[in-house]
Amino acid sequence: MKQAGLNDEGINKLLAIKKEVTKESDQELAADVVVIGAGGAGMAAATTANQAGKTVIVIEKASKMGGNTILSGGAFNAVDDGSETAIANKDSVEKHYTQTFEGGDKQGDPKLVRTLVENAWSGVVWLKSLGMEFQDGVFTVTGGMWPRAHKPVEPEGTGFFKTYQEYIDKNKGITMVYNTTADELIVENGIVTGVRCTGKSGNTITVKAQNGVVLATGGFGQNIEMRMKYNEISKKWPTLDASIPSTNTSGITGDGMIMAEKIGANLVQMENIQLLPLGDPKTGSLSGNIEHAVESRIFVNLDGKRFVNEGGRRDEMTLALFDQKDTTMYIVMDSDTYPKGDELNNFGESIASLVSAGRSLKADTLEELAQLMGVPADNLIGTVKAYNRYCKDGDLAGTADEFGRTLFSDTDGINNGINDGPFYAAVRVPTVHHTMGGVQINELAQAISTSGEVIPGLFAAGEVTGGIHGSNRLGGNALSDTIVFGRIAGTSASNFARQE
Ligand code: ADP
Repeated sequence: MKQAGLNDEGINKLLAIKKEVTKESDQELAADVVVIGAGGAGMAAATTANQAGKTVIVIEKASKMGGNTILSGGAFNAVDDGSETAIANKDSVEKHYTQTFEGGDKQGDPKLVRTLVENAWSGVVWLKSLGMEFQDGVFTVTGGMWPRAHKPVEPEGTGFFKTYQEYIDKNKGITMVYNTTADELIVENGIVTGVRCTGKSGNTITVKAQNGVVLATGGFGQNIEMRMKYNEISKKWPTLDASIPSTNTSGITGDGMIMAEKIGANLVQMENIQLLPLGDPKTGSLSGNIEHAVESRIFVNLDGKRFVNEGGRRDEMTLALFDQKDTTMYIVMDSDTYPKGDELNNFGESIASLVSAGRSLKADTLEELAQLMGVPADNLIGTVKAYNRYCKDGDLAGTADEFGRTLFSDTDGINNGINDGPFYAAVRVPTVHHTMGGVQINELAQAISTSGEVIPGLFAAGEVTGGIHGSNRLGGNALSDTIVFGRIAGTSASNFARQE
């Protein structure tokens, strides 16, 4: 247009006309229940509401369902109290409660923590009833502190969404509205009755709910302004500016919290932001993470030395990583995890493909591995030797190491330390993962106002809510949260009837 002689003003005018011409007409939609966000919590809520006989409209900013949930490693903490698995792992719902509550420095609302742990297993049973498949047994996810994570058969979080899509295809009554961003909640006579949205072409889409509205828009890990603002309060992390990447998908920008706050919802513990020490150095994503479970790997800094309890809390591990050279570490493990050399990691990538893409290093000896990593070989060999003493068959097996680590042997008993070549290493950096603060809710997933009252018509579930996980979320509890509170929100929103 410039070559045709138009100045900036002329170009802008033309572009505005073009937008006006291609803009679709405004729309008004209605359903019994309206869900905002098609991630883990939103789809659990939508499915549950539909199972209760309700029509549902799901509004989703992106072009497909999944949110951050689909990018996760799939770990779902749940204890089937008294089962063989729980007994074999010395686990119980009570232990899950204690580890969740104490792992968050007792900042979580005890009633919400109870609700989470007591309903997690029925969440697994519900997912299975919808056709979702889980692998046998449990594993310890990073920061999970204990072997209680169930792993779906499908990679990452894809199994959840395959299940929901199949449900939608088989049953009538759930309408997915993609490429549509919710902008503001509609409040009539003090009741939340719907949401105003912007469609792909810039048109306004107004969606009204006969029953309740469920907010399930996730956290704010990709909103740099918000994470810097709230980190200023806790000062937990040295910085959360743009130099720190995130595992989150780009649309996770705190929209739900902003919308809810505008209509008087109480935002709690926004300063509680979780980082993982497991980010891809280029993208911050969890892909390329070679670990399968806590017990079979160590973290090594650029000096070839361990520096933290790798079975501990996520915040402690990541804070320790910030103190290491270039805030960079390697995950190091042996072939116990990849005996054939072409198995998949928790993110559906084969170790062979990661090695050939240069995203994982592989060597027959620790000396060669150290060379590839660029760390002193003597240090790495010494580090591994010292670590192996605590593993199965080691002379210090059964005791805690100098960092307080107690999780050493795989539950299947295969892993007995890092001693069977070939050896693997993958470089990792700190990455923003989960925001524990958000909209205050009660056990019925009703949103709470700044004056402590229930906000009629508004329900919230998943990462958009706050006050469950406290200062530090236990690894594997986010998916449980989406299912437990997503289902509760779906039920509560279905039961909500306006009294006008
Ligand atoms: P949770 O784990 O809590 O379910 P996810 O990150 O999995 O959270 O999903 C949140 C979903 O909400 C994402 O798919 C995201 O694109 C969607 N979302 C975020 N903001 C909006 C918005 N303003 N309008 C519609 N959808 C949104």
